[in-house]
Amino acid sequence: MSDFGRIDGKTQLIGLLATPIKHSLSPAMHNLSFQKLGLNYAYMAFEVGNEQLANVVKGFRSLNIRGWNVSMPNKTKILNLLDKLSPAAKFAEAVNTVVNEDGILIGHNTDGIGYVRGLKEEGIDIKGKRITLIGAGGAGTAIAIQCAIEGASEIHIFNRIDETFDRAVKNADTINRNIPNIDCIATANSMDETEKLKYYIQRSDIVTNATCVGMKPLDGKSIIPDRSWLHSNLIVSDVVYIPRKTRLLEIAESAGCKAINGLGMMLWQGAEAFKIWTGQEMPVEYVKEQLFPDRLLDVKQTMITKAK
Ligand code: NAD
Repeated sequence: MSDFGRIDGKTQLIGLLATPIKHSLSPAMHNLSFQKLGLNYAYMAFEVGNEQLANVVKGFRSLNIRGWNVSMPNKTKILNLLDKLSPAAKFAEAVNTVVNEDGILIGHNTDGIGYVRGLKEEGIDIKGKRITLIGAGGAGTAIAIQCAIEGASEIHIFNRIDETFDRAVKNADTINRNIPNIDCIATANSMDETEKLKYYIQRSDIVTNATCVGMKPLDGKSIIPDRSWLHSNLIVSDVVYIPRKTRLLEIAESAGCKAINGLGMMLWQGAEAFKIWTGQEMPVEYVKEQLFPDRLLDVKQTMITKAK
């Protein structure tokens, strides 16, 4: 790398295509990691919506850009612009990471991989687990598909009746019929089916909140009303990580459950993308210390609680 700065004639660009984009933590996460490992890459965010996406992908392809992340609203729109899809991206019908391998654009979905790895880091193996999964948007879909691929035995998906409900039905169908060589049973259910939700939670190993409930402006709210719905052997995981301890996780802890927030998913989905582009392991602990120190998240959580 040049002595005159981090960018030189050999620097490889990694992009992020999304809108809105200014809040994204991905540039900081990846640039910090490139710098820490002395890798000659730079990560830049580009404000790109559906209208510009095809032109941008064409431009990135002709510039031989190594790869990029894709976020809302482009995760499904990009499917038809790529040459190959990973199994997770194919079955979730969504891509969050693209890599250019010798001119072939390959789409991956690392969100579900990040979720499963986050659990693994907490000592939990998804294999054989019965899961109640609440939410079938982007996060819920990626989690459902990856958990099925990685050997969960049952996934009971609950979603409120809204524009994402059809996706819950589709995800259950995909798991039951389309993913080869798995032994997983999935159901799709309405959140209004309260007794059914309680029943599945009682016989689950893991309950996952993959909805926006718990995150601003729904902070202080929980998708599970109280601890009587839970049992002490449950693992309760939340995709939300700000605040670090959502109301759901507070309820879970009061019921004696193991409670896990979404920070692991966030870090490991990035780490998986990093590995796809560079072949190297992201220094996850270092990134966590630098970008998500406990004291910072605690301050944010206190501020949110005070503001209520
Ligand atoms: P999305 O818009 O695609 O889906 C939203 C989901 O939340 C749907 O299932 C919807 O039915 C449900 N929902 C929304 N409001 C609700 C309410 N009031 N009651 C019940 N259900 C409600 O969003 P997404 O991309 O799937 O994101 C969902 C959450 O996951 C967000 O909080 C997001 O920040 C978080 N997320 C975390 C990570 C991570 O790495 N930890 C990654 C992606 C998303």
